[in-house]
Amino acid sequence: MPKAATKFNFAMKADFPFLKIVDGSESEVFCTHCKSKFDISSGGRASIKKHTDSAKHIKAADGYLPYQYRGGSNSREGINFRDKI
Ligand SMILES: [Zn+2]
Repeated sequence: MPKAATKFNFAMKADFPFLKIVDGSESEVFCTHCKSKFDISSGGRASIKKHTDSAKHIKAADGYLPYQYRGGSNSREGINFRDKI
Protein backbone atom coordinates (compact mmCIF):
# COMPACT_ATOMS: atom_id res chain seq x y z
CA MET A 1 0.00 0.00 0.00
CA PRO A 2 1.57 3.29 -1.04
CA LYS A 3 2.21 5.64 1.81
CA ALA A 4 1.72 9.36 1.34
CA ALA A 5 4.83 11.42 1.88
CA THR A 6 4.86 13.23 5.18
CA LYS A 7 4.97 16.97 4.92
CA PHE A 8 6.21 19.32 7.56
CA ASN A 9 3.10 20.74 9.21
CA PHE A 10 2.11 23.30 11.81
CA ALA A 11 1.90 20.73 14.61
CA MET A 12 5.49 19.70 13.95
CA LYS A 13 6.51 23.32 13.74
CA ALA A 14 5.01 23.88 17.20
CA ASP A 15 6.76 20.85 18.66
CA PHE A 16 10.08 21.51 16.97
CA PRO A 17 10.40 25.30 16.68
CA PHE A 18 14.06 24.98 15.77
CA LEU A 19 13.16 23.36 12.45
CA LYS A 20 12.42 25.42 9.37
CA ILE A 21 10.99 24.20 6.13
CA VAL A 22 13.43 24.51 3.26
CA ASP A 23 12.21 26.97 0.66
CA GLY A 24 10.59 25.24 -2.27
CA SER A 25 10.18 21.98 -0.39
CA GLU A 26 7.39 20.43 1.63
CA SER A 27 9.29 17.73 3.43
CA GLU A 28 12.87 18.91 3.69
CA VAL A 29 13.67 20.79 6.86
CA PHE A 30 16.60 22.79 8.11
CA CYS A 31 17.71 22.46 11.72
CA THR A 32 18.74 25.83 13.11
CA HIS A 33 20.67 24.16 15.95
CA CYS A 34 23.11 22.03 14.03
CA LYS A 35 22.66 23.77 10.67
CA SER A 36 21.81 20.61 8.80
CA LYS A 37 19.07 19.62 6.41
CA PHE A 38 17.18 16.40 6.41
CA ASP A 39 14.11 14.95 4.76
CA ILE A 40 11.04 13.80 6.65
CA SER A 41 8.94 12.58 3.72
CA SER A 42 9.33 8.91 4.57
CA GLY A 43 9.67 8.95 8.34
CA GLY A 44 7.77 12.02 9.54
CA ARG A 45 8.19 12.55 13.26
CA ALA A 46 10.36 9.44 13.48
CA SER A 47 12.84 11.16 11.19
CA ILE A 48 12.80 14.23 13.40
CA LYS A 49 13.30 12.09 16.50
CA LYS A 50 16.18 10.30 14.85
CA HIS A 51 17.73 13.65 14.00
CA THR A 52 17.30 15.09 17.49
CA ASP A 53 18.87 11.93 18.94
CA SER A 54 21.93 12.26 16.72
CA ALA A 55 25.21 13.16 18.37
CA LYS A 56 25.70 16.08 16.03
CA HIS A 57 22.36 17.62 16.96
CA ILE A 58 22.69 17.02 20.70
CA LYS A 59 26.12 18.64 20.67
CA ALA A 60 24.82 21.63 18.75
CA ALA A 61 21.65 21.94 20.82
CA ASP A 62 23.44 21.78 24.15
CA GLY A 63 22.50 24.89 26.05
CA TYR A 64 19.05 25.01 24.48
CA LEU A 65 17.66 21.87 26.05
CA PRO A 66 16.74 21.66 29.71
CA TYR A 67 19.37 19.12 30.58
CA GLN A 68 19.33 17.69 34.06
CA TYR A 69 22.45 18.82 35.75
CA ARG A 70 24.14 16.38 38.06
CA GLY A 71 26.32 17.12 41.00
CA GLY A 72 26.40 20.45 42.73
CA SER A 73 24.70 21.02 46.06
CA ASN A 74 22.11 18.30 45.49
CA SER A 75 24.60 15.56 44.78
CA ARG A 76 24.04 13.96 48.18
CA GLU A 77 20.73 12.62 46.87
CA GLY A 78 22.74 10.35 44.62
CA ILE A 79 24.30 8.41 47.49
CA ASN A 80 23.97 4.69 47.11
CA PHE A 81 22.51 3.48 50.40
CA ARG A 82 23.71 -0.05 49.86
CA ASP A 83 27.10 1.24 50.93
CA LYS A 84 25.78 1.28 54.50
CA ILE A 85 25.10 -2.43 54.62
ZN1 LIG B 1 19.73 19.41 14.50
